[in-house]
Amino acid sequence: MSWQPEESYAELENKLKEYYPRVDTKRLREAFDFARKAHEGQLRKDGTPFITHPVAAAMICAEMGLDEDSAVACLLHDTIEDTDATYEQIEHLFGTQVADLVEAVTKLTRVVYTSKEEEQMENLRKMLMAMAKDIRVILIKIADRLHNMRTMNYQSEDKQREKALETMEIYAPIAHRLGMQRVKWELEDLSLLYLDPIGYREITSQLEKRMPVLERFMEVNKQRMIDRLASAGIKGEVTCRIKHIYSIYRKMYSQNKELSEVLDLCAFRVIVDTIPDCYNVLGQIHDLFKPLPGKFKDYISTPKPNMYQSIHTTVIGSEGIPFEVQIRTYEMHHTAEYGVAAHWKYKQGISGPAGEEKFAWIRSLLEAQQESDAQDFVHELKIDMFADEVFVFTPKGDVINLPAGATPIDFAYSIHSEIGNHMTGAKVNGRIVTFDHALQNGDVVEVSTSSSSKGPARDWIAIAKSSQARSKIKQWFKREKRDENIARGKPVFENEMRHAGMSPAVLNDADFLQGVLKKLAVTSMDDVYAAIGYGGMAASRVVRRIHDEYSRLSKADKLEKQVEKLGQPQAVKEHSINGILVENLDNCLIKFARCCTPVPGDPVVGYITKGFGVSIHRTECLNYRSSIAKDGEDMRWISVRWAGTGGELYQASLSVNAVQHKNLIMDIATALSAAKVKITSLSVRELTGGGSVAFITVEVKDTAELTSAINRLALIKGVTEVRRTGT
Ligand code: MN
Repeated sequence: MSWQPEESYAELENKLKEYYPRVDTKRLREAFDFARKAHEGQLRKDGTPFITHPVAAAMICAEMGLDEDSAVACLLHDTIEDTDATYEQIEHLFGTQVADLVEAVTKLTRVVYTSKEEEQMENLRKMLMAMAKDIRVILIKIADRLHNMRTMNYQSEDKQREKALETMEIYAPIAHRLGMQRVKWELEDLSLLYLDPIGYREITSQLEKRMPVLERFMEVNKQRMIDRLASAGIKGEVTCRIKHIYSIYRKMYSQNKELSEVLDLCAFRVIVDTIPDCYNVLGQIHDLFKPLPGKFKDYISTPKPNMYQSIHTTVIGSEGIPFEVQIRTYEMHHTAEYGVAAHWKYKQGISGPAGEEKFAWIRSLLEAQQESDAQDFVHELKIDMFADEVFVFTPKGDVINLPAGATPIDFAYSIHSEIGNHMTGAKVNGRIVTFDHALQNGDVVEVSTSSSSKGPARDWIAIAKSSQARSKIKQWFKREKRDENIARGKPVFENEMRHAGMSPAVLNDADFLQGVLKKLAVTSMDDVYAAIGYGGMAASRVVRRIHDEYSRLSKADKLEKQVEKLGQPQAVKEHSINGILVENLDNCLIKFARCCTPVPGDPVVGYITKGFGVSIHRTECLNYRSSIAKDGEDMRWISVRWAGTGGELYQASLSVNAVQHKNLIMDIATALSAAKVKITSLSVRELTGGGSVAFITVEVKDTAELTSAINRLALIKGVTEVRRTGT
């Protein structure tokens, strides 16, 4: 069927009228006609006229509940970038607000993402949000991206992957940060379809096969909840759905499970009118089903930072299959689905009280806005979360995050102290600027350096805004002075040596030098010269000690022997990280291998991973054993040991085999809670040959605690074996 422009437009107009009955349809129509004319002759990859895209994106804005200006701006969002239309034209026809929105969306479109480093992503996300002075800019951009992702199948494979990756790493997290769950899920699922089509289809086809069973399961449990609510006299709505593909995918890959092992595929939701009813429902659900310990979360009393509110509990339904129940009010539900976009609806008085009260990060803004009307509120709503930060680019496109008001000096030192120390000039967006120039979001900053630079000037310390830059500049001055001190101290020392009848050349003997340094408690002769230079040590005193050492050694005529002794390695330097001691490694990242989950008391060994620090395995671990068997002397295995226990808890994974299935989860939960051991994950699978196996992750202090937990599990009726996994 060919695209019907008039029908699509009418649909948009009607959708907008749902929330804004007094929408200026003449203006909306003008925007549609303007965009249609501007994009005349342009086609999308699927062959439809280009105008289908802005209309569909505007429809998404309207569905989110965004206002008329947003819809108008969204209709025009690609005109500045892709057609002859100008800011001035749009401003003249549709006003400054719309023109500003369109221009800002255009700017965001031009931000190209280049790197995949996680920190880089976070900065890029923040920068996009900070660049959008009006949050509607981000929402329009998200609507634009969502429609592009929905219609990605005609793009080249490279383009698909590139856009999907960008969506997964930038836009889905932004949607999450703004609390827009529904959009976030759709963006994630669409991205996954292009990033891992095989994995995606594997899940959908398996889900399809299991659908009859899942549907029956959902229907039965849903009906039980509905009946219970009715008999308890609570008014509410019960819904159930299969979790979205990407969340199942993540579960399978992060926990290394087959789809058949992911038990909680369904999520139930109970929506009620009031908060007290949420807790009443919780009581009823816990009475009706067995709750899984440790899974209860109350985001009503403690909302998530993105404003999400709900009660979550996981219970065990018929056939021992666990499922999650979310309990919330209608208002919380709306906020959970649409996040920050839900505001516009609330402000229009459609759904009750002022929802913005809950938006902690804009509360301060609202306090100043109490007297103003909705239009002003919309106009003033800005993202001020990152008001104290500024995001700029290196010429290569890396994003650098600096404090607000930062200067080229801060920029240079954030790249490298040597760049800062040798900086001779700076350019912002290609133009030469002074060192105190305040950088703006999105600026491209370039500094020139020279090896003959004399170093930073004293007043840089006052100009720099970041403590990092200031401390590096101070360090430079300290070190610079040190050089002066060394230059002054060295001749004084050498003079004193000759006075005492010794040649300064005795220190050329490396072993003797080591002994002297140790005696003087310094790490190099430069330290000695610097100290003499600034008067911290008397040259005569230093020389006397060197002389004593020299004559003692030569008198005993055991110089060789003594030096040998002095030359012996010093005590090994050790640091405890996460309760682990690693020899000679300072500040390395320590993680515990998932395969064998070591806890204090287990003999352990460390593996130097590529870029992820040291991974700790048990010496019994099959992975370690097979690695050693294969490679023999693999240099990446290093010895580590446990430091004294600091009371930290460690995760350990167990498997429990039982002859039957019934009540196994409950028995395990009871046994472990009696052992006062916290469960972090628990799942049960039926074995084809009869019987079942439970996979448990628990948190324990050490092997003693773990052993007592294992002993308790072994006492459960029908349990045939309890073992730690990975061996
Ligand atoms: Mn677009």
